[in-house]
Parts: sequence; structure tokens; C-alpha cells
Amino acid sequence: MNKTVILVVEDDTPIRNLITTTLKTHEYKYLTAANGESAIMEASSHNPDIILLDLGLPDMDGIQVIQRIRSWSNVPIIVISARSEDTDKIQALDSGADDYLTKPFSVEELLARLRVTRRRLSMMGADLRDGSSVFLNGQLRVDYGAGCAYLGEDELHLTPIEYKLLCLLSQNVDRVLTHTYITQHVWGNSWDNSVASLRVFMAALRKKLESRPDSPQYIQTHIGVGYRMLRVEALHLRGQ
Ligand code: CA
Repeated sequence: MNKTVILVVEDDTPIRNLITTTLKTHEYKYLTAANGESAIMEASSHNPDIILLDLGLPDMDGIQVIQRIRSWSNVPIIVISARSEDTDKIQALDSGADDYLTKPFSVEELLARLRVTRRRLSMMGADLRDGSSVFLNGQLRVDYGAGCAYLGEDELHLTPIEYKLLCLLSQNVDRVLTHTYITQHVWGNSWDNSVASLRVFMAALRKKLESRPDSPQYIQTHIGVGYRMLRVEALHLRGQ
């Protein structure tokens, strides 16, 4: 069987052991690195499928590791950060990390993040293969070519900004996008980059998209960080 190979970058031995034990019992293959230099070396010589990267490393900043790896590879990177490193976490996402785990995290949380990332990898492969310009997720359908979005049979009447937000989120489904990333891609650098305004546009989009805006199904809020579009299980919707 083709096992997923995870590169675990963590200088804290007990945490590293916890992660590798979890990976082993769930049939993942893994490699380890205890500092940034060896992380970059392992990543370039072994081509892992996913990288779990601690941000606080002894020899260099985790952000630098991301930037170096991103210069040649799109491998999914999940950063691991302590709560005191919240701004680093946001910087890491802006530097090209895909997701994050905050210490202390549970084994279930780790496994959930890995599942999301693996699913994203296989979906990306499928999207590339069929070259489709239509995005499907649960009841949501975005026709990028026509510039229209539908929920079930009904067309969503979105403002240009709401549509841009929806496209950005759907094109990055399963990935956490930071406030800065979103505002720069939707408004460009000219915009004043206010999180409060983004929140207003997001609330308007959700009102049209979510059947229950108080417990959103499609767009998840990451408080203090940003937003992520979730994959809605197709199974979930059958029989509704
Ligand atoms: Ca550390």
C-alpha cells in the first residue's frame, strides 16, 4: 500500500515521540528532524507528502524553513506553535503554511489535521486531472467560467466582493487563509486591511450561503487568524 510519508520537525523530544508514536499506530510512515537545517535537508532528499513543523527551532526560525522549502516545493506544511507564538502562526500561514496546530494539542486533533490535508492532496490531484472550472462542495456550486454561484438549484445573488471572497475560499478549500491573505487577494494592497470590514463582508456572504449562519457549514472562523472553507461531506447531504 502507498503510505503517506510525514516529515516531523520538532526539537522537543517528548512531543516528537508522541507524534511519531501516533503516526506509527495509524499506519503513516515518518521521518524526523530536530532542527531547521536537517528539516530542509530531509525535505529535499526524501520528498515527504506532508510536513509537520514546529515553529520554535533551535537553529533557525520555522518561518525561514517554510520560505526555503516553498522556494522549490508545494508540499503541505502544518505548523505547530505554542500559544505565545500566535503572531508567528499567522506569519507562517502567510508564508505558505497550509494549516496549524496549537500546543498543547490532542492526538485526535493531529489526526484530524492530517486527514484534512490528505484529502486536500487527493482532491487537488482530481481537480488537476479533469481541468474543471466548476467547483462543487455539498450543495454549493461555483462556476468560475460563468462567474456564477449556486446553492442547490438556486443562484446566489452575490455582490462582486462577496463573489471574490467565495472564489478565494473555494479555490483554497480546506486551507486556513489569514485576514491579511484574504484582504490582499480580494482588495489588493490599496485597501486599509481592516479585519472589522472583512468581518462585515464575510457575515453578508454567510447569510446567503449558510442555512444556519450561527453554526456555519461551509466557512469556518479561526478567531484571531482568519477563515477556512470546509469540505462538506457529500454523504451528509444525501437524504436531506
Ligand atoms: Ca520547539
